[in-house]
This record gives sequence, structure tokens and C-alpha cells, in this order.
Amino acid sequence: MFIGHYGVSFAVKARDKSIPLWMLFIAVQFLDVFWGVFVLAGIEKVRIVPGFTATNPLDLYYMPYTHGLLTAIGWSIAFGAAYQLIARPAAARSSLIVGLAVFSHWVLDLLVHRPDLPLYDNSAKVGLGLWNVPAIELPLEALLLLGGMWLCFRDNLARATSTFVFGVLLVVLQLYFFFAPPPPSAQAIALTAIGSYVVLALVIWWLQDRKAKTRA
Ligand SMILES: [Zn+2]
Repeated sequence: MFIGHYGVSFAVKARDKSIPLWMLFIAVQFLDVFWGVFVLAGIEKVRIVPGFTATNPLDLYYMPYTHGLLTAIGWSIAFGAAYQLIARPAAARSSLIVGLAVFSHWVLDLLVHRPDLPLYDNSAKVGLGLWNVPAIELPLEALLLLGGMWLCFRDNLARATSTFVFGVLLVVLQLYFFFAPPPPSAQAIALTAIGSYVVLALVIWWLQDRKAKTRA
């Protein structure tokens, strides 16, 4: 799952306006940001196998530190606690929500991944495999993203025109990643992932958080 995770960011923002959207963009992809870092460092492993799933060539055979159930819970608690410390005076409820946003990544990944998500260590791997059913996977991602955006902006759709255009571009980006040729190496996909998550967080800051500050 890629763009669908951002649907959670927008849905959370609809409930708690105090949390910046760029922060929620990082939160929902936090496990993948660290996955990219760990792959670059050689701590977690991925093989590029063309045709491995119907929608991407990633054999994610070793990622216990970022995509294990127990470690994902640990990262979520750590991120929520860090938010509480850094974003003072954050309400404890906001920090809890930010932590849950981090954990939502694992839950949504569970829907689409092959059984490559370990429940503990590198064992007991789960995944419902929607990556192999593009006719469901693609619309699901688009629906999550655009549904979340609608929840967030339904009271003032005019204010969010450029953000909806951004959402449609994200759907196009998702299609590109599905149908583009396989990445040349594990390092290339890790760098692309980290770069995409940082750039998209910057874009949503530009489109929404920056304006929120000048409106305040
Ligand atoms: Zn992931």
C-alpha cells in the first residue's frame, strides 16, 4: 500500500485539527521510511523479482524491525511519545492518535502484502495479498485516499481544490509505480521510497499547513 495510507492522515486531520498534516503524512509512512533506511544500511532485505506480485516486484523476505507486528507497535508508541515531548503542549489524546496513525500503516499493509509481515521476529508471517488482485487493490487505495480527503475538507471543499488535484496526481503516481519497469536495485527502491515520503510531506505542508498558519 502506498497512497492509501494518506487517507488515514486526512481522516485523522478531520478529527483533530491541531496535528499538522505533514506530521500525519510522515506518521502513516513512518514504518516505510525506516524500512528504506534499514534496507540502505543492510539491516533489512528485499529482492527485486520481476513478476513477484501482480503489481510490484518486491520480495520482502526480511523486515522484522519495521514491519513485524510487535516492532510496529513499538515504533507507534515511540512516535506518539516523541510527539508528546516535541509538540508541547500537545494534548495526550493527539499524541495517542498520532501513535495510532503510525500503527495504521501495518494494518493497511496487512491487506495488500503477501504473507511477508512477521508477527514476531522473522516468524509467523501474514498478509492477505491484495497486491495480486489489482482490480481491487488500485481502487481501494484511491478510495481510501480520496475518501479521507473528502472527510477532511467536506465543510470547505473550495479551500482544498489544489489539494484534491494533488490527490489525483497521487493516484497517477500510484499507477506509474504499478506499471513502471522494476527498479534496478534494492537501494534504488529504498531511496525512491524515502525521497517520495519526504517530498510528499513537504508538498502537503505547502498546500495546507502553511496556509493554516497564515489563517491563524
Ligand atoms: Zn509498509
